[in-house]
Amino acid sequence: VDLQKVNLLDVVARSKEMTSHIVEEKNMRLEIISEEPVFVLGDLNRLIQITMNLLMNALTYSPEDKTVTITISQTKKCGVIRIQDEGIGIAKEEINRVFERFYRVDRARSRNSGGTGLGLAIVKHLVEAHHGLLEVDSEVGKGTVFTVSIPLVKR
Ligand code: ATP
Ligand code: MG
Repeated sequence: VDLQKVNLLDVVARSKEMTSHIVEEKNMRLEIISEEPVFVLGDLNRLIQITMNLLMNALTYSPEDKTVTITISQTKKCGVIRIQDEGIGIAKEEINRVFERFYRVDRARSRNSGGTGLGLAIVKHLVEAHHGLLEVDSEVGKGTVFTVSIPLVKR
């Protein structure tokens, strides 16, 4: 990764553009909550790749008509992107395994959704390359939240 000054608002705006057709097709809503620009030390295209993977998962593993909410904020040291869905959720027993390469919770059902099970393994790798933190919290039948924290750029 090539680390430079990146505004997380740009990362999320690009990801929203690139998924708008899917959001429309599934009659979903994508809400962005952000107050001010947040500058992290990151690689713009890799940060978009991280956000796109998490956003595509949020859209894929949600029924129609649901809302996905992306919140951008910052702590003392990090810029934070939080991606919350109202989808099927992930069981406690599975939650650590979803970061493994090729792991998919429901093999039979997810075969139809066309993925390979690599998305989250790539996300984890890319977040680590940014010296960041990737967290997940989920409840079956309620939804899932993925939180990505990336160190702020020092001015
Ligand atoms: P792809 O390689 O196309 O991303 P994938 O989406 O199956 O395929 P991952 O993104 O790595 O692979 O996700 C692994 C598994 O974790 C998924 O198959 C799904 O079972 C589960 N999962 C991931 N994100 C969510 C989510 N937001 N809600 C519910 N389950 C999820
Ligand atoms: Mg995926």
